[in-house]
Amino acid sequence: MTTGATVWLTGLPSAGKTTIAYALAERLRAEGRAVEVLDGDEIREFLSAGLGFSREDRHTNVQRIGFVAELLASHGVLVLVPVIAPYADSREAVRKRHQQQGTGYVEVHVATPVEVCSVRDVKGLYAKQAAGELTGLTGVDDPYEAPQDPDLRIETEGRTVEESALLVHALLVERGLTI
Ligand code: ADP
Repeated sequence: MTTGATVWLTGLPSAGKTTIAYALAERLRAEGRAVEVLDGDEIREFLSAGLGFSREDRHTNVQRIGFVAELLASHGVLVLVPVIAPYADSREAVRKRHQQQGTGYVEVHVATPVEVCSVRDVKGLYAKQAAGELTGLTGVDDPYEAPQDPDLRIETEGRTVEESALLVHALLVERGLTI
């Protein structure tokens, strides 16, 4: 069977995780790979309905997504996960579970600085936080523990989406996870 793997894209809101994931998915599908994008917003509507944004709920959300990703990956799917996952111990637990099951796991840090993210502000969250309409925004008034040693770190400033997606693709080729 074709090798599956989970590719977790972690980073701040508006860093570029979702955009890179869908661009990469398109490329991989064109190569004939089975690909699934586990979009954070969709997951929160269904799999994690009822969970909030406390440390505990964020941890539970990441573990649920990690569980589903591992299941899919163990059946040969390349699973792209553009989800903030702000806590290092949550991400580590997901990596461990994959390793225990013998399933590939790759961590990509989409390392866009908060100053750039807050200008992009795709969902208007930074503006809402600044206006006092929202609290607990990751990277602003809620923690984001940047990965110390990710498999890949992408600086998106001065790079196109396509270039960013290609960097992840190159890593997958290098790891023997796609051709
Ligand atoms: P996230 O999923 O991390 O919250 P999104 O992918 O929804 O962020 O939004 C990122 C925004 O940044 C998009 O509007 C995207 O077009 C833009 N962008 C600019 N340069 C890049 C790049 N090199 N890689 C990814 N996104 C980029």
